[in-house]
Parts: sequence; structure tokens; C-alpha cells
Amino acid sequence: MSQIRAVKIEVINTGTELLLGNTLNTHGAWFGRELFKLGLRISRQTTVPDGDAIRDSLQETLSRADAVIVTGGLGPTSDDLTREITAEVLGLELITDEAALRSLGEFFALRGKPMVDANLKQALCPVGADILPNPNGTAPGIYVPPRLNGRSNCAVFLLPGPPRELYPMYHAEVVPRLRALAGVENLHEALVLKFTGIGESDFHQGIDARLAEVPDLEYGYCAHIGEVDLRLIGDAAALEAGRKIALERFGNYLISDDESSMEETVVRLLKERGMTFATAESCTGGLIASRITNVPGASEVFTHGFVTYANEAKTGLLGVSPSDIEIHGAVSEVVARAMAEGALQKSGTGIAVSVTGIAGPGGGSEEKPVGTAWIAVAMRGGPTEAFRVFHPRNRKDFKLAVSQAALEAVRRRLKEV
Ligand code: ATP
Ligand code: MG
Repeated sequence: MSQIRAVKIEVINTGTELLLGNTLNTHGAWFGRELFKLGLRISRQTTVPDGDAIRDSLQETLSRADAVIVTGGLGPTSDDLTREITAEVLGLELITDEAALRSLGEFFALRGKPMVDANLKQALCPVGADILPNPNGTAPGIYVPPRLNGRSNCAVFLLPGPPRELYPMYHAEVVPRLRALAGVENLHEALVLKFTGIGESDFHQGIDARLAEVPDLEYGYCAHIGEVDLRLIGDAAALEAGRKIALERFGNYLISDDESSMEETVVRLLKERGMTFATAESCTGGLIASRITNVPGASEVFTHGFVTYANEAKTGLLGVSPSDIEIHGAVSEVVARAMAEGALQKSGTGIAVSVTGIAGPGGGSEEKPVGTAWIAVAMRGGPTEAFRVFHPRNRKDFKLAVSQAALEAVRRRLKEV
């Protein structure tokens, strides 16, 4: 760990549209995720409007960061000033890069379009800096290494704004340079373990003290609805020690150790076991089916998604008995079991899950308060299992929490096969 230099990275996003709220600034989050994969972090992110505003922000950043990534403002128009202002702030002269100019010419020729004079400035590059080729657009990126003219210790990356130009350029040009800046070939690795079925505080209580004892391991928790992620950062030995501690205590609750989501994990398990799957949903309104079908290749394993919101749908489509609904209520163990078994039978799949619950805000009772749901998993050749969950939240979060619990029940059941 000691030979790796902590690299302080800042990101500056330019674009008036980002501050007006017309475009969501997804670059910040994207860089956060991508840099994290290298074991690096953004220490600060700034958003500035187009034009001269980048000057102050860049000056501040150069004085405290080891590397800055600037996005946008490399276009041909008069408010695209990133290139010019960066050169000015660093005290570097801008000259036309002949290779960049040729690439620009080829870009337009290939598309049968004339290149206008305004584009010429896109071939300008500070003396001594690298042009970063842009195979997907007109604006090449620019890399100014640290201490180029003794003015700044900060490495500067200027990258185009459009994601389809930015992302490939980051991978091809920025990653290798950042690796070199960090001082070693292999940076710290990061590992994300996803868990479900445990609260963040229980989780913390269970392993925090032990993780703290692992030398050179950095770790953190991130709670989502129905999920806690444990983030481990360190060298291979530290990661392994951290993983061992977490799995010894909570291995039963592990969804994945490769950032796969719950639904991806369920689809993978179904494929591995050669089983097909159906859902019978009431309160989640098809969310479980939707999550499953977000996974590429879901068609190999997912055949039927019944959304049976009304009682008549539960009886008509799934064969739930009207008297069971009358006696026990639609949100009950009996009905959840009947729904799952009905889905299994009607679809002919190997496993089926059902959910029925009270999302609220109305419709609760003392016995079944808002937030109550019953979940059942039926499997061919095995008993049907049912359980109750309680998630008193807004409707959207309730649906997500219930869908998570249902998928987790399926995951556990599949693990036993
Ligand atoms: P360049 O001139 O370097 O190609 P630019 O920022 O000047 O980039 P724009 O025309 O402003 O180019 O933006 C191009 C596209 O990229 C727009 O659709 C814009 O909304 C999008 N974009 C720019 N910055 C961001 C960002 N931070 N997050 C998400 N989208 C962005
Ligand atoms: Mg812009």
C-alpha cells in the first residue's frame, strides 16, 4: 500500500445546461464509478456554466489537486473556452497540432461535410501537451502533464462533453495516464459485496470492529432499499481478509461479490439450474417481472408475469378460491400461497413467486397495517414457503422493498437446489 501515491482527483463539468437543470450531470457519477474501479476517488466535483466561469474554478483546483478532469467546452462555438482558458491559466501557448488538424479534416471528409473555420480552433493544443484522439467526434481531448512549465503540479485532462465521445476517450487515454500518475501498475483494487436481509446497523455491528483490524483495508457501507453494499478497497491480501470477515458472519445474506444486482443473480441461478420462473404480483404491479426482464437473457428463464391486482384477476388467472379471499383477505398467507401455486401451475415453470400486500396510504387495518405484504415461493416437487414482511414506506419504496424480499426468497430457494 505504501508505494501507492494517494492521487487527489477533481472533476470540473462545464455546461450551462447542467446548472439550469436541463441536462442531468451524469458525468460526475460516471467518473465516480469508473475511478472507483481503479481504486481512485474524486475528492471534489465542480459544475460551472459555459464560458469564462471555468477560469476561477480551474485556478483553485490546480492549487490543490494532483489531477483534474474537465468535461465539455471543447466545441467550435464562442462559449467553448475550456481549451483557451486552460492554456492561459497554465501560461502555455496554443499552437495548431497538425495531426489533430488532419484528423478533423478527415472527420468532415468522411461525412461529406465542409469544415468551417470555427472548427480550426479544435486543433489547437498547448505547447508540450498531448492531443487525445477522438474517433467519435470533432473535439480531440488534451492532456497537460504535471509540471509542464513548472507552474502547476496538477495533471490536466480536457475531455469532450458528449458521453459517446467522452467514455471511450476516458478508457483509451485517461486510464493509462492515471495509472502511471498513481505510481504503480496495479492500483488498489476495489471489491463490492452486496448483501440483503440485514439492516445496515446490524451489519455494521457485526463486522466493523474486525474489519478495522485488517491492515491497509479501507471499507465503507452503502445502504439501499433492501440491500447493504460493503465496499472494500486495498491490495489483494487486504481485500481477501475483508471478504473473509464479511462472509464468515453474513455469507448467507450475500447477493453477489461482482456487483451483480439481485435480479442478475436470480437470472444467473435459474440458468445454472436450468429452471424457468414465473411471477404472480399484486402490490408490486409487475415490478418483479420488470426487474427480471431488465437482465439480458431473461427470456431463457422467465416465461410468465401475472399482474393480478383485483381479486377477480387472482381468481380468474391464478385459480385462487374466492372463499379464501373472503375468509382470509387478499393480503394473507393463504392467498399468497394460492397465487404462487396457481402461477406455477398455469405457467408450467419450475419455480414461481407471489406477492400480495397493502401499499397504502389507505386500506390498512390494525391486524394488517399499511406496509404489510405476504410473499410465497412455490417450487415444482417441493413445499410452498410463505412469509410476511412489513415495509411501511411510500408506495414506490414499498414496491421496491417487497420486490427485493421476493427476489431474495427466490434466490435462497434456488441456492438450496
Ligand atoms: P464538446 O464541445 O467538448 O464536444 P460540449 O460540452 O461543449 O462538449 P455540448 O454541446 O455542450 O458540448 O454537449 C454535448 C452533449 O453532451 C449534450 O447533449 C450535453 O447535454 C451532454 N453533456 C455535456 N456535459 C454533460 C454532463 N456533465 N452530464 C451529462 N451530459 C452532458
Ligand atoms: Mg457543454
